[in-house]
Amino acid sequence: MRVRAPSANTRYFEVKSLVREGNLNTICEEARCPNIAECWGRGTATFQILGDICTRACRYCFVHSGRPDSPPDPLEPLRLAQAAAKMRLSHVVVTSVDRDDVPDRGAGHYAATIRALRRKLPAATVEVLTPDFLGVEDEALATVVEARPDVFGHNIETVRRLHPRMRGAKASYDKALWLLRRVKGLARYDVLTKSGIIVGLGETNDEVVETMRDLRAHRVDVVTIGQYLQPSPKHATIDRWVHPDEFRWFREQGEALGFGSVFSGPLVRSSYRAEEQRHAAETGRGAVAY
Ligand code: SF4
Repeated sequence: MRVRAPSANTRYFEVKSLVREGNLNTICEEARCPNIAECWGRGTATFQILGDICTRACRYCFVHSGRPDSPPDPLEPLRLAQAAAKMRLSHVVVTSVDRDDVPDRGAGHYAATIRALRRKLPAATVEVLTPDFLGVEDEALATVVEARPDVFGHNIETVRRLHPRMRGAKASYDKALWLLRRVKGLARYDVLTKSGIIVGLGETNDEVVETMRDLRAHRVDVVTIGQYLQPSPKHATIDRWVHPDEFRWFREQGEALGFGSVFSGPLVRSSYRAEEQRHAAETGRGAVAY
């Protein structure tokens, strides 16, 4: 796998300075995403709201975990919307850390962010990639859906068998499926739902297909599949390097299952080329592999 280095001939440094100026976090940096030069070079980024400390500690994730020492910043939605407007984004992707320490788990902050984006960038589409809103799932989903994101994402991350080991006791495979289905039930508009699977954590290819089947059974429209990269020696070790032919096979399986869009490839992440994913699903262009 080869990734590009940041280049002054792209928009990379412009994005970097807007992120700094807005005192914002991005999952691109927090998770050390290998696609950062490409995505920022194209003028896109995925914003991470609700701070930079996550109250979970998934075994594959590089985002800092711990106990946040401050509540969500009420001005963050506005600063994010201003930065997105300066970046001239036509599709804005917003994710967050888990905030099990705040009563609504951050749902109100998601809604405020979507609304701020609607005011500043009325023509842009908005995609959220949310945590599981532990213990307040229904109210939290209603709050987020009421703000009408165009795409609602929640990553299942790994197959059923590995879920407890990789994600800990608070997360649940079945709850992730339930959340995705519940969004379709709550939305009074045509929301796209989306989920991501990481491979290379110890799963089999058949289990990946089984997970896709579960997602489709819960009416998920878009799926992404990408290779796990171990972010530090403390994290889960890489079990295997999935061959590009296997990624193509996943894509074919996903197509056969009826997803509107399947992005499947070593460097695919749930927010990778997110606007293209949405477009593919909406226009019925179908699956793509990288
Ligand atoms: S794939 Fe997503 S997280 Fe990675 S750099 Fe691109 S926008 Fe950021």
